[in-house]
Formats: sequence, structure tokens, C-alpha cells
Amino acid sequence: MSYTGPDFEPSQPHRSPLRRALTVAVAALVPGALLGWGVYAAVGGPGEGDGGGSGRAGGAGTPAAPSSGAPASGAPASSPGDGDGKKLAGSSPAPTSKAPSASGPALPASGPLTGKVVVIDPGHNPANFRHASEINRKVNVGTHWKECDTTGTATNAGWPEAKFTLDVAHRLRTLLLEQGATVKLTQDGDRSFGPCVDERARIGNEAKADAAISIHADGSGAGNRGFHVIMPGSVHDGAADTRAIVAPSAELGERVAGAFVRVTGTAPSNYLGDGTGLVTRTDLGGLNLSTVPKVFIECGNMRDRTDAALLTSGSWRQKAAQGMSEGIVSFLRG
Ligand code: ZN
Repeated sequence: MSYTGPDFEPSQPHRSPLRRALTVAVAALVPGALLGWGVYAAVGGPGEGDGGGSGRAGGAGTPAAPSSGAPASGAPASSPGDGDGKKLAGSSPAPTSKAPSASGPALPASGPLTGKVVVIDPGHNPANFRHASEINRKVNVGTHWKECDTTGTATNAGWPEAKFTLDVAHRLRTLLLEQGATVKLTQDGDRSFGPCVDERARIGNEAKADAAISIHADGSGAGNRGFHVIMPGSVHDGAADTRAIVAPSAELGERVAGAFVRVTGTAPSNYLGDGTGLVTRTDLGGLNLSTVPKVFIECGNMRDRTDAALLTSGSWRQKAAQGMSEGIVSFLRG
């Protein structure tokens, strides 16, 4: 679908009620997230992104189960839903921005994002579970030390989060390339593990990304449903200094959340963010070490059967990528 017309995104003064609500929510959540940090530091937390913010960001919702649900032993299950959306490069090798393959999307010579760089960070790595010692190595994220990377969660049927994140990343890459952007992935299933969370941030920094997004799905308790976008809180500690990216990241997060609601029709999280779909955190290395506008998105809860039915649907994943793309395009066009 094309959304290159001038009317695609209303200008700032004409923000939707949803966006206004999201903006208010961001302001309201920041103090809560900072307060929550002490709790997080005291109890420790699960892996980067998933579940770690449950009950710690804004004090909302019920605590989630730790996202330690690694895929069952043996090879990860094959990707469900590969049948639908395959023509959209869901599981085939996607083109790079520099050398599109013949099977990739038809790329315009230019587009609204020409000259813009977007870094997509597919959370975790399908092979992380084979490299426990490597991914358990601690790296410094400014505020503290944490594991290099984690396995991520999985559906109850054993489909790994890392497969989900890579699939959505490919779909998002295709959509952004169609808009003329230069797109870089932090990993493309081409590494034996990781990268570590500090490197995931560094890749965005070194690419001088205009926007970066880390894609995840949560591993919370059954009944906890919906997506949330995680934005960096203000951190200035050691190698971490997010002060310059808090505001633009919040803007990016609002726009991604708004577009995600509109395109997927999926409700914001019912267990975090007070119904806004927006959460601010100060414990994620991938955000703390970023010097470019960056957000995480937890697309749903893999451990909830209803959410898992969406996450394992190729057509829903396409909508998810479309929502992210429209939010990013909106942010980058200003
Ligand atoms: Zn994750």
C-alpha cells in the first residue's frame, strides 16, 4: 500500500486524540519509571526487553512471569504462518538497502525517506539457546552490568520469539526500503549468537540512525495481552547518556504506538502502561547506550493463547510491520 501522498500524516497541530493521550501518558510515565528503577535494581530482572518492565514502569499492571521461557531443547520449531505473506519477503532472504536482490520489492529511485537511515534490531537470536555461556557474559550498559543477550521467550507451542522478531524485521525492512530509506539490521540470523545488547545499541549509533527500533514479543502471564512500546527514560551514568534522545524517542514511540493501533487494530497492553501502550524504562542496555532516537516494541504476549494466535499469523505480522513502518515514516517526515 502506498502512503507517500501529502495527506498521509496530519501535521503536528492536528494530532489525533489518541496521540494527545499518548503524549500525556509519556509525561506521566517518566517519573514512575524512574521510581521503578530502584525496584528493578533490587530484584534483578529478566532479559532485555521482555517482562522486565512488568509492574516496574509506571507501577501499572500485574507482575509478569519472567521471560526465561527458552525454546524447548532441540531445534526451534519452524515458523508458523509462513504461507501467508511469503511474497512479502517474510521468510525469504530480504534485500539489503545497498544491493536489492532480484526477488526483493521494486525500489523507487527515491521516496519520502530517501537519505534517512533506519536501524532495525530483531530481538534475541534464533541460535542464542545454543550459546548459553556466551550470551550470559555480562556487559556494561552504563547503569549496571547485564547479560550479553537472552534467548527470548516462545509461544506455549515452542515457536521462539527470535523467529518472530526476525520475520517482522524482514517485513519492516521491505516496507522501509520501499519508502526510500537506508535500512540496517543488527542481526539477520547470520550470527551464531547475539549480538550483545551493547553492540545492538552501538550498531544504531555508528550508522547514525535517524530512527532505531528493537522488535520483541513479551513472555508474560496468560491473560496479559496487547502490545507496548518502550521508550528510554533519562539516564546519565557511565557510558549511558540518554538525555538527548529522550524527547525524540518519545515522539517516535508515540507515533509507532498510534500507527500500530490503527493498522493492526490490536489494543494496547492490558498489563503495562495504563492502557496507553507506552512505557518508559531506564534498565535496558539497548536504550541506555543509544545515542539515536530508539524504541522497543513488544508486539504482544507469546504466552497468552489469544495473543499467540496473532503473533503466529503471517498476515498479522505483516500488519504489525506496516504499523511500525507508518509510525517511523511519520516520525521521520516530521
Ligand atoms: Zn524479547
